[in-house]
Amino acid sequence: MSKASGASTPGILIVRINGRAAARIRSGHPWVYRSDLSISETPRAEIVRIADEKGRVLATGLSSSSSQIALRVIGGADFAEELPGWLTQRVAAGAAYRRRWVKASDAYRVVFSEADALPGLIIDRYNDVFALQTLTQAMDREDLRQAAVSVLKAEFGNNVHIVERGEARIRELEELPPLELRQLAGDKTRTIFMMNDLQFHYDAAAGQKSGAFLDQRENYAAAAQYAHGEALDVFCYQGGFALHLARVCSKVTGVDASRPALEVAEANAELNVAKLKIPEIDWIEANAFDLLKDYAAAKTMYDTIVLDPPAFAKNKRAADAAARGYKELNLRALKMLRPGGVLITNSCSHHVSEGDFSEMLASAAIDAKRTVRILEKRGQAKDHPVVATIPETSYLKCFVAVIA
Ligand code: SAH
Repeated sequence: MSKASGASTPGILIVRINGRAAARIRSGHPWVYRSDLSISETPRAEIVRIADEKGRVLATGLSSSSSQIALRVIGGADFAEELPGWLTQRVAAGAAYRRRWVKASDAYRVVFSEADALPGLIIDRYNDVFALQTLTQAMDREDLRQAAVSVLKAEFGNNVHIVERGEARIRELEELPPLELRQLAGDKTRTIFMMNDLQFHYDAAAGQKSGAFLDQRENYAAAAQYAHGEALDVFCYQGGFALHLARVCSKVTGVDASRPALEVAEANAELNVAKLKIPEIDWIEANAFDLLKDYAAAKTMYDTIVLDPPAFAKNKRAADAAARGYKELNLRALKMLRPGGVLITNSCSHHVSEGDFSEMLASAAIDAKRTVRILEKRGQAKDHPVVATIPETSYLKCFVAVIA
């Protein structure tokens, strides 16, 4: 570690990285791992210049003293902006992007961290309530928080309600103090939002996971195009797929292990009775693995099945175990579908690639002795952008298949 000199900006620290890390940055990826640094310690939340082994400055980044991702790139070698102004401009760009590409919803991710060139910041909009999360030391700054509040008001009106939520596990990794919930603007934490012409409840103050899976919005609409007959939504959470299926199916059952999630699902269904083809959805609190085993044994059959399990593979090492989990679920679902039935099967693990997921489905098809024709291979909704140079920004797989 050395203080800058020569062509560099006085006072700004220069951190040297090895060849592998330099190649990654040149390929447009914003992360530098701690193991790729010439030094083991990096300062907490500082702007640093990132230089290759020869000392040539490649980029400017924000540092973390604790994360394995020690540096995150925010600009080129000559980046000289003040951070609040930088954040303001990027949030405004994020809002403009969503206004252009998100249809049929007042709920979407306004800022998605690296995918919006704002590493460590997530902002979700649910109608008039905005939920902000800071995931890095560098983003956890009062002046940046205030800049975010100001730009959200400028973009969405002075009456917005803004809440900051803290993810305990991530804050711990970044050695940030715990944060439950903080009102940054307005006074509401609850609202009702729209997705594809259906209404849903949102409460930023409810429990650990709160909010919808906004990344599935376009897949809900796609699922409703193919779904028919009797439908089963496995891992239904607050009913995102189930409600969309209930607009076109004759019977819908939602399954989840979480009672609070099912209570919100039921309230969501009540909000939309007039728009649903069927007045009632059955909500079952159960372990999906056990329930599918029992149903398959009892030869309970369906015309449509949705599988949307939580991320089984949180890292590369867990990918094998995850593959077995996906296979078991998909195998059982294939056996439970009537001929002509539709399977909508999802994985939200980045570590399970689209290729891995295809192989898993092929192997389940062989074991189930069914022909599986893939109608669509889909990904995450457009408000969760996939950046070509950052593979980690792509994580959601949603395959729609018809079963013979
Ligand atoms: N399909 C939902 C999102 C599902 S998220 C949507 O579109 O909104 C994953 C869900 O799986 C969570 O609600 C969680 O409670 C549930 N879950 C996790 N493990 C489970 C298990 N073994 N059995 C049933 N549900 C489980």
